[in-house]
Amino acid sequence: MRLLVVGNGMAGCRFVQEVLDRTDRFEITVVGDEPGGAYNRILLSNVLAGATRPEHTTIASEAWYAERGVKLQTGVAVVAIDRAARTVALEDGSSLPYDHLVLATGSTAFVPPIPGLVRPDGSFLPGAALFRTQADCAAIAGWAGPARRAVVVGAGVLGLEAARALAGRGLAVTVVQREDRLMERQLDAAAGRVLDWTLRRLGIEVVAGASVSAVHGDEHLTGVTLTDGSAVDAELMVLCCGVRPRADLGRSAGLTVGAGIVVDDRMATSDPSITAIGECAEHRGRLYGLVAPVWEQARVAAAVLADPAAPVRYAGSTMVTRLKAAGIELAAMGDDSPRVERDDDGDGDGTEFVTFVDRTRGVYQKLVVRDGRLIGAILLGDTRNAGTVTQLFERGAALPLDRSALLMVRRNAPAATTTSPTALPARATICQCNGVTKGAITAAWQAGAHTVEEIAARTRATTGCGTCADTVCGLVDWLAQADTPAPPA
Ligand SMILES: Cc1cc2nc3c(=O)[nH]c(=O)nc-3n(C[C@H](O)[C@H](O)[C@H](O)COP(=O)(O)OP(=O)(O)OC[C@H]3O[C@@H](n4cnc5c(N)ncnc54)[C@H](O)[C@@H]3O)c2cc1C
Repeated sequence: MRLLVVGNGMAGCRFVQEVLDRTDRFEITVVGDEPGGAYNRILLSNVLAGATRPEHTTIASEAWYAERGVKLQTGVAVVAIDRAARTVALEDGSSLPYDHLVLATGSTAFVPPIPGLVRPDGSFLPGAALFRTQADCAAIAGWAGPARRAVVVGAGVLGLEAARALAGRGLAVTVVQREDRLMERQLDAAAGRVLDWTLRRLGIEVVAGASVSAVHGDEHLTGVTLTDGSAVDAELMVLCCGVRPRADLGRSAGLTVGAGIVVDDRMATSDPSITAIGECAEHRGRLYGLVAPVWEQARVAAAVLADPAAPVRYAGSTMVTRLKAAGIELAAMGDDSPRVERDDDGDGDGTEFVTFVDRTRGVYQKLVVRDGRLIGAILLGDTRNAGTVTQLFERGAALPLDRSALLMVRRNAPAATTTSPTALPARATICQCNGVTKGAITAAWQAGAHTVEEIAARTRATTGCGTCADTVCGLVDWLAQADTPAPPA
């Protein structure tokens, strides 16, 4: 059976790995429009910050595919699907047949309509870049070298990670955002103010309530004008203005498309021989922009294809966002509730808001509780309890009556109130991106994986955003100690 995957990103590559883990009965072809093998897009923020080398982002090289008998065509886009003939057309004029098609085309970065940004040949004015691909990241890093000042447009997770990375390279950075608060999709106004303070302390200027109205420079960017009339000199501009699902292929092929390609709980589109996964897919009216849901969808799609009778379903994902920016600790979870601004202790429907603020340390923490359970949280400036809080959020477990114990972690606090891996139950999720629990890591240890690398190879923990690496390391140390026989008395 011919399985054709369009898109060799985080979802497409993981889908292939999950299929190969289950069966060898498919003849798999992957078509990706980016060059080379698959890489970990998440790590581009670390690459820009100089913390990760570009070659260390590879997830699956071209050789990896070849060794497993998977045909990989890179640097070429699929431009059309002929559902009746079960073929796809490639931009080089060739076509490929399929029995089952998987669309994993991700998202495309939104380009705001700024006069002067796009040149007549369709390219950007040099010095201006999006931040989505390895090529974008290389362009930004190249321009950052000689630049002294940078403008980052957009103050979501991506914009702030880019801003922090560029500030770390010694550039004077201005973040320009249209909304009146930072990370408006995750934070309430009070958290936004504390984050604003944290950024300024790190030397990053924030201009809120404005956007870029024009860019300047003939051969290269020299500066921008903002909608409030002010001007910012800059040799580099990074656009982080959100993403749009790449659903056009599905739309023009007549699949049901809303904001993304509509899928059911088994990741099937309106055509049963076409599956869609990742950021291009819309499931129960929702789009996802984080890797944990994308990888979960890839797992479900692979399980369904490998065994159509398997009772496997994707039921949607909870949202946990971590910022990967040196000097800014931030974890946010829940949908809308943490963004709700309340200065009392409830909103009349039984929702409790528990907050702790320590502006001098740049700490803002908020728990949103309904019926004794956590439905959202913001931990800014101090994420030592993020593991425990995330776990309570994901499991919908009853909170302790003393909510403050979850927020105010004293320095040198006993392990029971911090994220010490020893204090977590076996079902606690350690690696959010891959959904790996403490129990799974313990089982891997018992099966012979005794280093972080061996645990990663067996469970995939640490292979997403990497923020769980310290916790996994702590677990490995703890398991090693537990395994060491006590010295004779
Ligand atoms: C810098 C950065 C940092 C991030 N950090 C985090 C983080 O810390 N945590 C987190 O959870 N998420 C993070 N994300 C988001 C995460 O990377 C995405 O959720 C994930 O990559 C989505 O996977 P995907 O496969 O759906 O899309 P993608 O990874 O974008 O892959 C889609 C692929 O399909 C290709 N393609 C599209 N159309 C075609 C076509 N017609 N023909 C051929 N190929 C095509 C695209 O070029 C791309 O290679 C980050 C993203 C970026 C850019």
